[in-house]
Amino acid sequence: MRLKAYEGRPAAVTRAGRDAVNAAMIRHWCEAMGDTNPAYSGPDAIAPPTMLQAWTMSGLTGRPGRAHAYDELLGLLDEAGYTSVVATDCEQEYLRPLRPGDEITFDSVVESVSERKMTKLGTGYFVTTRMDIHVGPDLAGTHRFRILKYTPRPPAGRSRPDRDRQQKPARPRPVVNRDNAGFWEGVRHRRLLIQRCTDCGTLRHPWLPGCSACGGPDWDTVEACGEGTVYSYVVMHHPPFSAFDPPYAVGLIELSEGVRMIGNVLGVPCDKVRIGMPVRLEFHEYDEELVLPVWRAPEAEEAVA
Ligand SMILES: [Zn+2]
Repeated sequence: MRLKAYEGRPAAVTRAGRDAVNAAMIRHWCEAMGDTNPAYSGPDAIAPPTMLQAWTMSGLTGRPGRAHAYDELLGLLDEAGYTSVVATDCEQEYLRPLRPGDEITFDSVVESVSERKMTKLGTGYFVTTRMDIHVGPDLAGTHRFRILKYTPRPPAGRSRPDRDRQQKPARPRPVVNRDNAGFWEGVRHRRLLIQRCTDCGTLRHPWLPGCSACGGPDWDTVEACGEGTVYSYVVMHHPPFSAFDPPYAVGLIELSEGVRMIGNVLGVPCDKVRIGMPVRLEFHEYDEELVLPVWRAPEAEEAVA
């Protein structure tokens, strides 16, 4: 098959990391992630393995790097009608720790192109690229990135007048799985539940199967009181997803219980959202099936005072 012929061909040309692995980026990363693991500081520091891709980033100005074969493959899929794209998953392997001073090089190949698959989104092909990150001759890690190039499914058969009334597509649904089902069950009952380790009492969010403080597998929940502050935020202008109305503010909210979670900030114009601003939990009903926790800021006058 024509698409299979792209397997093994370069997806990006070999490049060197913009900066050597360095303590400043490691420190910023750890601060942003709230990761206080002692392995990442001090004279024998290593970089957090999850930073692997950070060392390959080209910055906001971007740099040409995509190989011809990869563009050609995506072009073929576009021409065949598989014009939509969604990133599906990312997988990293760590083979050797990176330390300040290490200079990395990386390249990327089209590792596989799947058979044609039917998915909930539509029919298409999964394209997996694999980036290998080296320090000198040593392979330090690999980063696999999978996308689905697909033809969107036509909207389900609503009658035309109904469809005209409801031009706006539904907001995407949260992905509910075994680990976070309890959280969404809480939201359904208008309760914001935080997981608590029953071994050491550490609260955690997002929901996980184990405690990152002590490793304990057992947990119960506490209900958030609903007070929080904006720890950080972004204002989304682009891209214009049709289920949303940009611009809108998305906050990383620090709950008074200490954990942080992401949610829309409502109640003030999005350019008035500020770090440190107090916010209060609300449950917003987006449609018949979708309720999400959102955060309401005080009135604009108070907010700028
Ligand atoms: Zn614990």
